[in-house]
Amino acid sequence: MSLERVAIVGSGNWGSAASRLIGKNVQQNPRFEKQVKMWVYEELVNGEKLTEIINTKHENVKYLPGYKLPENIVAVPDIKEAVKGATVLVFVVPHQFIHNLCVQMKPVISSHCRGISLIKGIDFDESGPLLITDIIKRELNIPMCALSGANIANEIAAGKFCETTIGYENEQDGELMKQLFHDDMFRVGLVKDVAGVQVCGALKNVIALGAGFCDALEMGNNTKSALMRIGLIEMQRFTKKYYSNVKLETFMESCGVADLITTCYGGRNRKCAEAFVRTKKSWEELEEELLGGQKLQGTTTAKDVYLTLKKDNVLEEFPHMVTIYRIAFEGLPPERIVLDI
Ligand code: NAD
Ligand code: 13P
Repeated sequence: MSLERVAIVGSGNWGSAASRLIGKNVQQNPRFEKQVKMWVYEELVNGEKLTEIINTKHENVKYLPGYKLPENIVAVPDIKEAVKGATVLVFVVPHQFIHNLCVQMKPVISSHCRGISLIKGIDFDESGPLLITDIIKRELNIPMCALSGANIANEIAAGKFCETTIGYENEQDGELMKQLFHDDMFRVGLVKDVAGVQVCGALKNVIALGAGFCDALEMGNNTKSALMRIGLIEMQRFTKKYYSNVKLETFMESCGVADLITTCYGGRNRKCAEAFVRTKKSWEELEEELLGGQKLQGTTTAKDVYLTLKKDNVLEEFPHMVTIYRIAFEGLPPERIVLDI
């Protein structure tokens, strides 16, 4: 049986932390080739190419400073070269870049390849929400799993215990992906629900903006919990409306309620939303000043969700998500976060 060849598409904060899990697991599992190529969006860091820094220092000094990457992780700046010959593709880029990357990869993707998306976001077109895995399937025609959970990348890199959820369609693919990620400190749970895993991961980013507004106004823990509870209900309502096959139990997995909690307390969306209220700066300025090249996902998702709900004439069924959007983009006073629900 030929060995599985893994390639990672993306090398930001989570991509780099995930490469530590993958790099270690493939070395210990005879099913996998030992070398893993990781596509890196090339940029200069202090005058040196990031790929060269990663391949010599074995550290992503920009997106995950302070943590060594395994030496079998090889940074590659050319997307086609990075994924050519791969049988397992791990997608971990901010969601706005996925379509363009798939178009570039398409000519070199083999028909027996499988993929897993670690991306937390959804896209939208005129027909409604589009799962990231469906965009990848449409472009590359490969079966897809999704991984999402209460997974702040720096905590995982530091080896702190957490859980995650892999959603699969085909059980064998789910098991394969589990072997790539699971270890004692990063426990993988499997669910047959690719859509549920992803919708949770995307929508919690919107609710986390509300948590940040609430923190800026020092409304307290009871208020924040109430907003999270109401947010969770709206996440379920959205899911039922657009993905009727999603299992409600998925919301009880790491990708559901646990990720909502962790993001509303420790995530970048929460942090930038708090600063948005305190400083009155634009989202673009805050992303630049506070995230050092990392990307915010919740603001685009909030906008896309709002436009979809508006088009479908159901805004009044989602008062919390609508209020978050209006505070973020229409100048609604942040105090309305509690008054409009
Ligand atoms: P990130 O936000 O740290 O970094 C941004 C990445 O985008 C960098 O690798 C950068 O090189 C790349 N980039 C910049 N411009 C680009 C372009 N034009 N085309 C392609 N790439 C470009 O990335 P991340 O944290 O690894 O996030 C990837 C996904 O993982 C997101 O969907 C995020 O929500 C999700 N996620 C993140 C965390 C976390 O704690 N960071 C945890 C779980 C899931
Ligand atoms: P942020 O993108 O808000 O940092 O969320 C990280 C995350 O998804 C943790 O599970």
